[in-house]
Amino acid sequence: MLLVSADQDNEPPLLRRESLFPGVPDEDWNDWHWQFRNRITSLPQLARFVSLPTARLQQLQEVTRNFRFGITPYYLCLSDPADPHDPIARQSLPAIEEYLYRNTGEDDPLHEEHSGIPGLTHRYPDRVLLVISNTCAMYCRHCTRKRIMGEGAVRPVDLDRMIDYIKSHTEIRDVIVSGGDPLMLSTSRLEEVLSRVRAIPHVQIIRIGSRVPCVLPQRIDAELCGMLSKYHPLWINVQFNHPRECTPEATRACDMLLRAGIPLNNQSVLLRGVNDDAETMRALIHGLLRMRVRPYYLFQCDPVRGSEHFRTSIAKGISLLEQLRGHTSGLSVPTYVIDLPGGGGKVPVGPEYLMHYDERAGTAVLRNFQGRVFPYVDPSHDREPEAPSQDASEPPAPVRDDSTVVQVQGALPAHAGEPVSVSESAPASVAP
Ligand code: SF4
Repeated sequence: MLLVSADQDNEPPLLRRESLFPGVPDEDWNDWHWQFRNRITSLPQLARFVSLPTARLQQLQEVTRNFRFGITPYYLCLSDPADPHDPIARQSLPAIEEYLYRNTGEDDPLHEEHSGIPGLTHRYPDRVLLVISNTCAMYCRHCTRKRIMGEGAVRPVDLDRMIDYIKSHTEIRDVIVSGGDPLMLSTSRLEEVLSRVRAIPHVQIIRIGSRVPCVLPQRIDAELCGMLSKYHPLWINVQFNHPRECTPEATRACDMLLRAGIPLNNQSVLLRGVNDDAETMRALIHGLLRMRVRPYYLFQCDPVRGSEHFRTSIAKGISLLEQLRGHTSGLSVPTYVIDLPGGGGKVPVGPEYLMHYDERAGTAVLRNFQGRVFPYVDPSHDREPEAPSQDASEPPAPVRDDSTVVQVQGALPAHAGEPVSVSESAPASVAP
């Protein structure tokens, strides 16, 4: 097996195409139909690239009985498939941990299947999620929707009921089309979905969730971009999890979508052994910015059955954010979010920079990315006017019961200084 180490922040990785798929002409390699037809979807196929001793083969048979498997030749070539610790292989190749953790977690931790219309989730007031297929170019081992990726099954989608639901809920202004991967539908089928959603007057924006630019960038062609550009305002959320995925092929695909007027936001998943260290995360977000893709969310990995080995602690996520914020462009720092089990929705989590805040006094103490401590004073027009000195015979002035006092000592890093006493006449900075 040819091993190539990737320079994570500068050079695109060298593809292993010649060693893994010798003799495939460019015409085929760059044709997404060829890539899709030649996906590795079974263990005997995988055994051509990875040594699978009998014991491991038996274990992986248990895994693939439970969880669907499929990887494009292109994406396989970004990995060292023989190395189980390889970050690309970890995301794409079945692993015995999926079997070991088959009873840990839930099939549907986010409670997406509760609307009464299969595939439709209406959790937030003005947005709705449509899961319109269960086909992906590559089946991510950490996928939140592993439950719907039954091998060979095509999910029946009642588009009529979905459309009727959106029509009857005039508060919906944002429709998220996801899957499975919507870009794996035929262009004509996807156009049917988009045109019917776009025809609903109160729908303002359409968003598509797709991993295709990352795992099958050949799919992004002029025909697809031309069709998508008819349904603006249209956004696409992509998922890149490792800097090695930011290849010239992915850059070309993203560039075509951007030139079609489609803003691209990245939704990474924080994955143990893939991107849970600051160096990798920094290289990833820098790679995304070079592709003009905005790092938007960093998701805590959901507690999905068979994915426990990918999960990290919240402390790990906060620590990563701490090592990014202020240390690199703010534009590149994603919002770290936890999608609450049970359908509670997404909540942002991150390092605490507001150490103390007294709303009534209008004073605050904040720390910066270096742990240096600064006082801050609210504008006078937003502060409680000072009560005049009172005669002892008068009743005391009423105290506002909606004021806020925040004291967040526990969030301080070890190197931070002590909070300073604050007064309006304090200097702008008390940092050393
Ligand atoms: S592309 Fe998305 S839906 Fe498909 S397997 Fe990966 S995470 Fe799941």
